[in-house]
Amino acid sequence: MQIIENFSLKHLNTFGVEAKAKYFVQLNSTQEIIDFIRDKKFAPHNTLILNGGSNTLFTQDFEGLVIKINNVGWEIVKQDQEHVFIKVSAGENWDNFVSFTIYSDFAGLENLSMIPGNVGAAPIQNIGAYGVEQKDHFHNLEAVNIESGKIRVFDAKDCKFGYRSSIFKTGLKGKYIVLSVTYKLNKKAKLNIEYGAIRNELKNMGLEENITITNVSQAIRNIRGSKLPDPEKIGNAGSFFKNPVVSKEKYFALLEKHPKITAFPDENNKYKIAAGWMIDQLGWKGTRRGDAGVCETQALVLVNYGNATGSEIVSLANEIQQSVNDAFSILLEPEVNIV
Ligand SMILES: Cc1cc2nc3c(=O)[nH]c(=O)nc-3n(C[C@H](O)[C@H](O)[C@H](O)COP(=O)(O)OP(=O)(O)OC[C@H]3O[C@@H](n4cnc5c(N)ncnc54)[C@H](O)[C@@H]3O)c2cc1C
Repeated sequence: MQIIENFSLKHLNTFGVEAKAKYFVQLNSTQEIIDFIRDKKFAPHNTLILNGGSNTLFTQDFEGLVIKINNVGWEIVKQDQEHVFIKVSAGENWDNFVSFTIYSDFAGLENLSMIPGNVGAAPIQNIGAYGVEQKDHFHNLEAVNIESGKIRVFDAKDCKFGYRSSIFKTGLKGKYIVLSVTYKLNKKAKLNIEYGAIRNELKNMGLEENITITNVSQAIRNIRGSKLPDPEKIGNAGSFFKNPVVSKEKYFALLEKHPKITAFPDENNKYKIAAGWMIDQLGWKGTRRGDAGVCETQALVLVNYGNATGSEIVSLANEIQQSVNDAFSILLEPEVNIV
């Protein structure tokens, strides 16, 4: 493995912003990751783990060591009549893995089709879409402690999964490198197609009964393809902000003032307000500040039209945050990891 100095990260983040890593290393196998961490040569350096770069926004050069995770592959480690357990390397592309599960008729991850990024990042923010979160099919993960080099297995309880959150974004932030994740999938599908958009798309596809996971995955791909900008064509990291969760009282007060507000009750008797709806109401969709902009089709997504810097994108995000706070008394929290 080779350590490179002053390495450009422009092509390793889906926002496509320029930033340099003082030191950069790519680790291509699980053993290489473990050996590198145990060899304390780089221990005093500030480290940043980079995987697919689709949830990271660089606002400056990184004055430490960026470790790019490149271990790939998966294996079925256990199965019974109902379930199959698949252990997937952290650097494996998420959607490649999801496509394999669909092809193999292993159900559970179909609603999470077409999410960019790699498997090791999926538990970090507990990725979710269309009524499913990765925690719903998570079995455990293996991670190496960056300081001690010890390997630890985390089950779902240890990970403290929440809405776009886990212990790796809170108490253990920056302490572990996820090496692999094991998912527990169903041999018999229990479809989750209650989201209006999925039903409508299935209908558009002429499908109303005998729906399979392949159909659901295709419906999700169609919906995502029509709404979300492709990072290959225009820099972005998906939803820039989380949907804020408010108390029932706050929700009803907002509803009185804004009868069309879009919100969903959550499992804790609170309400998740659609951040995109609020941003859209305030007229931000399509706004541009130089090359930093708000996506024209989805107000929750900030985009880089070409040469925006990370700071310019953050500065636009701050303006949006302020305007939402002024209008709705809600402080939006970024979902993207700002470095
Ligand atoms: C068009 C688009 C649509 C998107 N849609 C969704 C969506 O529907 N739902 C959703 O939840 N997200 C969505 N995202 C966000 C993103 O795809 C996910 O968060 C994804 O899991 C990020 O993976 P990554 O490998 O690119 O992460 P990176 O950006 O490389 O890393 C993200 C964070 O995880 C940490 N990390 C990564 N790998 C490891 C590891 N092995 N060990 C320890 N820490 C690690 C990094 O340090 C960083 O803090 C979308 C993004 C885009 C561009």
